[in-house]
Amino acid sequence: PTRTLSGITPSGSLTLGNYLGALRRFVDGQDSTSGSRDSYYFIADLHALTMPHDPQQQRELTLETAALYFAAGLDPSRCAVFVQSQVRAHVELSYLLESTAYVGELSRMIQFKEKGGRPRTRASLFTYPCLMAADILLYDTHVVPVGSDQSQHVELARDVAARFNQAYGETFVIPRFVPPASAARLGDLADPARKMSKSAPPSATGVIRMLDTPDVIARKIGKAVTDSGNEVHYDPAAKPGVSNLLDITAALVGTTPESVAEQCPSYGVLKRACTEAVVATLEPIRHRYAELVADRSSLLATLADGANQASAQADLVVRRAKHAMGLLC
Ligand code: ATP
Ligand code: MG
Repeated sequence: PTRTLSGITPSGSLTLGNYLGALRRFVDGQDSTSGSRDSYYFIADLHALTMPHDPQQQRELTLETAALYFAAGLDPSRCAVFVQSQVRAHVELSYLLESTAYVGELSRMIQFKEKGGRPRTRASLFTYPCLMAADILLYDTHVVPVGSDQSQHVELARDVAARFNQAYGETFVIPRFVPPASAARLGDLADPARKMSKSAPPSATGVIRMLDTPDVIARKIGKAVTDSGNEVHYDPAAKPGVSNLLDITAALVGTTPESVAEQCPSYGVLKRACTEAVVATLEPIRHRYAELVADRSSLLATLADGANQASAQADLVVRRAKHAMGLLC
């Protein structure tokens, strides 16, 4: 069977990009062949600590993200859904991998180059790729479904795993990065050259949040930048704004951006089609979400159960790695 693992950091309210690049694919990939668990999906709360954060807000965002996982269709009887910090093995293996990775390769990580390198940069913003490698390697993961912005991280996990195996003997499965077939990197509606990101300020009009109401969605798409001219066709280089809307619509209705373009004679028609597709997808999720967060104690119980399942697998791998490295265990 193919082992799958992926996660999302609770660093903001989830976006349509997180849904198309990640969450929707988690739902499609969940399975349990012959009763064994082959899909692991987690809320990466430890990764949120790399940037300034408010503790109370952090807790709420973690629960919001978990409830959205279930609202989007993850079924705890078919996959393990858990909060990263509730499975101790993540931090434990992370340290072993910090002792395997090199300063040179960590310095080349795009996220560190963009957000780090200042005296008050948190040390964890430098080392987090080791934690991410641990997240992946702990489950003997074959496949990591993530958006294309994450390829460098998976690449580092592969390098570190291969180096570890080489130095200490076969210990880790080498994982594979799998980008989505479509909408691998949604642009921000207000600035399509930039990636749509959940850590953008809550007021950002170019970011569609999974919990936005239909009104808000219509307003944001209405304001989306389009390009000069008035013809709708798919050309990401020359028409990034229009092409982004075509990508979104096509990914949601299950067709190609070119064929959406053919059905939309004007920018106005395209924006209406896009709004309709987004609302049709997100409205049912928003309603299920409201029910799920209302029952906080059963949400917490489901997550505790997921953490137990994940720990059972992860502890085996940590043990294997500790032994290989020469630690007493
Ligand atoms: P942050 O701004 O905090 O980095 P983010 O929106 O980039 O937030 P991540 O937690 O970094 O979200 O990534 C979660 C998953 O969502 C990853 O698989 C990532 O590839 C995917 N993803 C994030 N943004 C997009 C996007 N704009 N288009 C497609 N996939 C995306
Ligand atoms: Mg990101």
